[in-house]
Amino acid sequence: MFSILSKSLKTGILTKKDPFAARPPFGFPVLDFEACTACDECVQACPTGALQTDRPAPERKTLSLSYALCIQCRECVDACPTGAIRAGRDFEVAAYSREQLTRRASFEVEAATGRASFRAMEAVPGPSLEESAAKLRERVRGRFGRPLHVRQVDAGSCNGCELEIAATANPVFDLERFGIHFVASPRHADVLLVTGPVTRNMAIALRRTYEATPEPRVVVAVGACGCSGGIFGEGTYASIGGVDHVVPVDIYVPGCPPRPHAILNGLLAAMGLREARARPDAGVTAPASIRLTPVSPAALTVPSTRTAGKGE
Ligand code: SF4
Ligand code: SF4
Repeated sequence: MFSILSKSLKTGILTKKDPFAARPPFGFPVLDFEACTACDECVQACPTGALQTDRPAPERKTLSLSYALCIQCRECVDACPTGAIRAGRDFEVAAYSREQLTRRASFEVEAATGRASFRAMEAVPGPSLEESAAKLRERVRGRFGRPLHVRQVDAGSCNGCELEIAATANPVFDLERFGIHFVASPRHADVLLVTGPVTRNMAIALRRTYEATPEPRVVVAVGACGCSGGIFGEGTYASIGGVDHVVPVDIYVPGCPPRPHAILNGLLAAMGLREARARPDAGVTAPASIRLTPVSPAALTVPSTRTAGKGE
């Protein structure tokens, strides 16, 4: 007993006052569309189809990057001959719809040389991040005044996302200080934290879990798989794909797997009032809003449709 106490005293407090202060060593790719020549090298290198090109007209080309599909492998960074793609370090890449996780630009193609040059970012259909945040805040206002209870559902994950979710409860991140607790039953939950591409065998179980969760339930899809089917694709013999094919999703937290910072960030967003959950007395701060950096809301657009695997 004495040795345990002595060890604890020597170790000191491991919990980070501000879990959002430290940047992970690498995160999502950052594409500088203005420096891009739409040469397709990154598209060829991308194993998930997160980067896609289209040729709607002979003199026009588009290039899109979907963070919902990205597994942060950085193959595109190595493949880019012009250095237009670099590895970012931001983790606040959460959104309220798949569309908000995609950005797309159009390029002019010179008929003589076939060389493409940046023309413009594509317009953004649908609500902005701010509008979506306000809508969610309105829906949960006054309903989540108590601690937030989270039921985690593995709908087909490889367990990578579960390891990171478990890390949010360790002494370093300590999500309980934000009033967030994991519970065993969906009947006690405010939030469903769903991982994995939804397998056909888990679809009914997920639907029933959703129906057993009292309103105003919030669904957070975690990981590239939960957001889009990830490396397993969508509509395959075993996998339905993204969680939103089975239940409505309120927050998307991409990454393969997303880091604990990103999951915590998504859970605070799920409260619709994340600033209120910060503990200024303890020096704990939460991000002011979903930054979705380096993507500005004005640059977001609808992702291209995809069925299963690269290029399908
Ligand atoms: S999955 Fe992401 S990091 Fe990997 S090549 Fe595709 S866009 Fe780049
Ligand atoms: S997103 Fe990555 S870590 Fe999470 S379940 Fe899918 S493959 Fe596994």
